[in-house]
Amino acid sequence: MSTILNNTRPIVHWPTSPRDAARLLAELGTDSEVLAGGTWILRAHLRREQQRSNYVSLHHLTGLREVGTGKDVTLGAMLTHSDIAAINGGTAFSCVAEAAGVSAFPQVRNTATLSGNIATTAFAEADLVPALLAADAELELCTPTGFSRLDIQSYLASRGNRPTGELITRVTVRAPSTRHSAFERITVRAAGEYAIANVGVSIDLDEDGTVGGARIAAGSVEPVARLCEAAAAELTGQSLHDTVIDRAGAAAAAECTARDGLDAPGWYRLEVLPTLIRRALKRVERTSAAST
Ligand SMILES: Cc1cc2nc3c(=O)[nH]c(=O)nc-3n(C[C@H](O)[C@H](O)[C@H](O)COP(=O)(O)OP(=O)(O)OC[C@H]3O[C@@H](n4cnc5c(N)ncnc54)[C@H](O)[C@@H]3O)c2cc1C
Repeated sequence: MSTILNNTRPIVHWPTSPRDAARLLAELGTDSEVLAGGTWILRAHLRREQQRSNYVSLHHLTGLREVGTGKDVTLGAMLTHSDIAAINGGTAFSCVAEAAGVSAFPQVRNTATLSGNIATTAFAEADLVPALLAADAELELCTPTGFSRLDIQSYLASRGNRPTGELITRVTVRAPSTRHSAFERITVRAAGEYAIANVGVSIDLDEDGTVGGARIAAGSVEPVARLCEAAAAELTGQSLHDTVIDRAGAAAAAECTARDGLDAPGWYRLEVLPTLIRRALKRVERTSAAST
């Protein structure tokens, strides 16, 4: 059997600022890659992917482990899933913290980072991504020429084709107190497995309980997590009654084109999607009632 394990030891670079990291990535070109937690990169050979010759580690960029809470929650790119699960960012942030807390298992959560979860291509099952989509997260990106911001939906749409010399440095989630959110996932057997489907919901509720705005995101159903806009439209202007919730779940299943995989066929992902949406919305209903 042929092996794609490279016998040459890769070079790891240790920049101390985001701009230096971006410059290095630009100089080294396509045979280089950002190294964050390494939990995905270290299994490259199992996926039969070629190891890079150069890795640009972000481990000396201490600013990328900072958290800011308040009107917005700002997350450094190098925060681990465990770090994020422990953040009390209010009800708008719950879906992100919940996704981080149920992903993988403790050893991986303690090492795997926020930016690794977002940037990994060909990884439909990523748990943080649908939560961040629902939360309307914005990414801060650094290149050799400076910093810019991009919403996560646009980043995902272009993820396979991002410029060399770019890294994610920060993620911002707006956290108004009228916004409530939740995350749900289903696995074949138990925790520690990739999700067959995962869902983030984020709901703006008016004082009378009417949905002012909704974002519903489905992960692991299609090759890349997506917003379910028809499902969200079913909720807007309505109260979170069971019939409304059911209509939203049915709309989500109708608007997705599910992928077949070894873990589950596409039809099964569509079958469980409305249930996950229902569970998430029922939790939103309960937490919003408790906070009034
Ligand atoms: C046993 C196991 C179980 C897992 N279970 C789950 C699970 O249940 N749910 C889940 O969501 N994930 C799971 N993962 C997958 C994944 O490893 C993690 O989600 C993780 O978030 C990846 O982050 P990392 O920091 O380890 O990424 P790395 O391996 O360091 O990098 C992954 C990719 O992202 C790029 N990258 C990283 N940071 C940046 C940045 N700042 N800017 C630009 N590009 C960047 C890297 O260059 C690389 O291409 C699992 C992994 C393992 C090994």
